[in-house]
Amino acid sequence: MANYCRKCGQPLEEDYKVCPICGTKVYDEYQTNHAVNDMPDQYELLWGVLGFFFPLVGLILYLLWQEQKPLVAKYIGLGALIGFGSRVIFGFAGFTLFFPFRIFGLFF
Ligand SMILES: [Zn+2]
Repeated sequence: MANYCRKCGQPLEEDYKVCPICGTKVYDEYQTNHAVNDMPDQYELLWGVLGFFFPLVGLILYLLWQEQKPLVAKYIGLGALIGFGSRVIFGFAGFTLFFPFRIFGLFF
C-alpha cells in the first residue's frame, strides 16, 4: 500500500508519520476513509425520526445543536423538514373537516 503526502504528493514509506519533504502529518488511511465515509448510526437516525414526528421540537434542537452536534442537528433538521412537509401535504386533505386539529398537528 503506497502512501502519498496529501500536501506535496511525495511517495511515503508505510511507517512514515510525517512527510520528509514538507513536514505534513501523514494520517492513517483507514482512519481517514472512516471519517470521510462516516455513515449515520442508529443514534443519529433516531433523532431524525424524532424530528419527523415532532417537527417543532426538531427545529429547536436543530438550532440549538448546530454548533455542538452538527451531524445530529443535520439529521434532526432533515427529519423535521420531511415531517413538516408531509404534514402540510396530508394536512390539506382533511383541512376543512379537522381544521383545529390540523393546525395543532402541524406543529406538534
Ligand atoms: Zn509533503
